[in-house]
Amino acid sequence: MSELKCCPICGKEIDIENDLYIPERDWKPTFYDPDSGGDPINIHCNCGLEFSTGTYDWNEFVKAWNTRTPMDNIVEKLEERERYLERAMNESHENGHRFSEEKAMNERIAIRYAINIVKQEINKEN
Ligand SMILES: [Zn+2]
Repeated sequence: MSELKCCPICGKEIDIENDLYIPERDWKPTFYDPDSGGDPINIHCNCGLEFSTGTYDWNEFVKAWNTRTPMDNIVEKLEERERYLERAMNESHENGHRFSEEKAMNERIAIRYAINIVKQEINKEN
């Protein structure tokens, strides 16, 4: 069970006891959920990273985690946010009221920067 790589974001070693949810170990029947068997395996790191591929299979999960799928997910999420800001800025132009454009611009720059950092790390891995 120790074959998990460190967190791709904060570099912390994954604590099997505290950072990991394994349904067969951690799920208990409750009044509201007497028989589902629990959620798919997931990692929830102290840095806020949540990772799940929806699988209940340990080997599959380890493979997905260790091949840095989380990094790709993060790039996707950041790019989503970037697109949202871009849309919001365009729409505010059309409506005439300039929704705090400077703030949005600064956030977009920060996101771009973060995406580049993560992408560089992905390239190092490959
Ligand atoms: Zn982390």
